[in-house]
Amino acid sequence: GSIPIQAVLVAPGVKDRKVLEFKRGDALKDRDVASGLIRSVLASNPTQRSAFYVFDLAKVVDLFRSWRRALPGVRPCYAVKCNPDPSLLGALAALGAGFDCASRAEIEAVLSLGAGVVHPRRDIVYANPCKPEAHLEFAAEAGVTLATYDSEEEVAKVRRCHPGCELLLRIKGPDGGDARVDLGTKYGALAGEVVPLLRAAQRAGVPVAGVSFHVGSGAANLDVYRGAVEDARKVFDAATELGMPPLRVLDIGGGFVSGPKFEDAAAVINDALARHFGDLPCVEVIGEPGRYFAETAFTLAARVIGKRVRGEVREYWIDDGLYGSLNCVIMDHYVPTPRPLAGARPGERTYASTVFGPTCDSLDTVVRGYQLPEMSVGDWLVFDDMGAYTTGAGSNFNGFATSDIKIYVAYSS
Ligand code: PLP
Repeated sequence: GSIPIQAVLVAPGVKDRKVLEFKRGDALKDRDVASGLIRSVLASNPTQRSAFYVFDLAKVVDLFRSWRRALPGVRPCYAVKCNPDPSLLGALAALGAGFDCASRAEIEAVLSLGAGVVHPRRDIVYANPCKPEAHLEFAAEAGVTLATYDSEEEVAKVRRCHPGCELLLRIKGPDGGDARVDLGTKYGALAGEVVPLLRAAQRAGVPVAGVSFHVGSGAANLDVYRGAVEDARKVFDAATELGMPPLRVLDIGGGFVSGPKFEDAAAVINDALARHFGDLPCVEVIGEPGRYFAETAFTLAARVIGKRVRGEVREYWIDDGLYGSLNCVIMDHYVPTPRPLAGARPGERTYASTVFGPTCDSLDTVVRGYQLPEMSVGDWLVFDDMGAYTTGAGSNFNGFATSDIKIYVAYSS
């Protein structure tokens, strides 16, 4: 079906914000579009003198369309932790996505989109294998009825705090995915733990609805999806052998990056689903993409707030840094390649430059020995692809509040 663009523009989370419209133009590359959006923000908001984001809704629409084309049988349930901005959540809800929530606050953020928009039972998976009791009780009150687990303790806790909940057994993805962020060291049942964990749920009378896995965020070796789907099928068969009601949900997790790698991953997944689940056409397949939808849709503009010249070296301070949304440099292995908003004139001289964040910690250094043209206080540096694991994990250290960084919503058509 076609994507309801009008619905996106009036989606909860979007409709209360002013949406900046921007004509993309055929020749414009993504970076030029982002620069154009930033310039439009600055032209129409002369008082904007601190770091801000532009969020291009059109990117999310494009990405959703690509997802549907490449993985038609898999419903994306967006991983809220990746970027909980309400306008992103609202747009994805309008497009028809579900949500992966990992805490009470994430469930609340999604439910606040409105009862007519998000249905707790149909649209939310509580995908945190280890949940605080109070959060589980809240999920029960809110009507969220599907959650992941990978330990016997969790079964007992779910039985105590949320007896109406169904479970997805999270299994450990295969090794060797070469992921940017490996999750298998923390979560996922090992092969030998599967049957005991199924039995534990069976004994406790907590229904198991299916299986989930996560191959790691930004997996480079896409074959891990093949192995994970195969392992998931083994769990379906084990449940049948134990006499449990047939499992009916397969959650293939996240880990996707947009672009050609996504198409490659989708081909591997479709092939594996046909091979291992072709005889179970009624199984509902969902995914938990975070980075895929958020990463490229947000661009950061940070302002140069200080400068020091040391011989041939230039040192700049900007008003976002490693304690702010650029925490992704440490937490998410983001490699910053900032570019001046003004662009570089052909043949313009560049200098080995250091860019510091605003706090007093010397660790708060964004790049060092990085070539930039001469910049001045008041100029802007642009950081592309800053939507994933950025604002959500920033702090208020030193009084520089990440939550104060404004997000402008734009639509580039
Ligand atoms: N699902 C779970 C359980 C996760 O832990 C994560 C990321 O940590 C995601 C989904 C989203 O992963 P990604 O952003 O790589 O798609």
